[in-house]
Amino acid sequence: MPTQGYGLFVTEPNAYKSLECNICGSQCLVERNLPAKSGFIAAMGRMDKPRDEFSCSNLEEEWHKQAVSLVMEIEKTPSKRIGQLMQQDLEDLLQKNNIH
Ligand SMILES: [Zn+2]
Repeated sequence: MPTQGYGLFVTEPNAYKSLECNICGSQCLVERNLPAKSGFIAAMGRMDKPRDEFSCSNLEEEWHKQAVSLVMEIEKTPSKRIGQLMQQDLEDLLQKNNIH
């Protein structure tokens, strides 16, 4: 299940013309004016209103999932040095997959 904010963005309808993936920098695919969903989880994900959903075209790729977990870990770690190492891993990973 992809996490919002990592290659997947839910916005107000027509809030953005286009968005770039914050993980790999690719142009996101967009589905506009999706109908509101009901339920608690939908409300948590801001899906209880009509919305646009932007998602990276690489979201389902294994390397992209790995990149997402690296980004999450970098945000979580209290250690700058470990963060820097993981940043290097992330750049290697993106380079290997010809992004950037
Ligand atoms: Zn991406």
